[in-house]
Amino acid sequence: MNLILLGPPGAGKGTQAKILEQRFGLVQVSTGDMLRAEVKSGSAIGLEAKAIMERGALVPDSIITAMIASRVKQPDAAKGFILDGFPRTAPQAAALDEMLRENGMVLDHVIELKVDDAALVERISGRFTCGKCGEGYHDHFKQPKVAGVCDVCGGTEFTRRADDKAETVGARLAAYHSQTAPLLPYYAAQGKLRSVDGMADMSDVTIALTRILSPTA
Ligand code: AMP
Repeated sequence: MNLILLGPPGAGKGTQAKILEQRFGLVQVSTGDMLRAEVKSGSAIGLEAKAIMERGALVPDSIITAMIASRVKQPDAAKGFILDGFPRTAPQAAALDEMLRENGMVLDHVIELKVDDAALVERISGRFTCGKCGEGYHDHFKQPKVAGVCDVCGGTEFTRRADDKAETVGARLAAYHSQTAPLLPYYAAQGKLRSVDGMADMSDVTIALTRILSPTA
């Protein structure tokens, strides 16, 4: 099973993808995580992407589609994948269709997580992550049980994404509305689009997604 989680930054795509990954034995493919790894390693792609990401704009389609083309050919992707943060533009969606066709793969679902812009700003600007295991937290919604200590691995170093600053969030939302939201009618026309209320509690969102992916659940 291959699916796309589509939605604005902060809608919960990454959080839900991690849950679905375990529940359905799929792999999460996050272009944001892949780009952050490139930035961290100081690669040529990372050097080109860093400034673009920091101002909340989109990295060129050619870089992204090349990254995805090699990722979906990795053996673990044969289990099925959850695309998180890709595609984000019409050319990326067209390239994905072509890539799937070439590899004999199909896209089973495109699920939109719908969240109001005002809620997104609060969600994004409060999030932080354990530097050791990557567990996600939030200033208002999910503090570690013991302040300063990761619930999962006991790590004590936390990081905040450079592009989660309130000033950058506006640019990221604008990019979503102008370049990514037009993909909704594209997938609706393919009969693949479903929408889930991303404003609901995290566990209710997981239930709604699970019902779509395994209708008998
Ligand atoms: P994300 O972690 O999905 O919020 O992505 C963080 C940043 O990485 C975005 O604001 C973009 O600058 C860049 N990025 C991630 N995925 C894509 C994509 N599919 N197309 C273009 N830029 C992307």
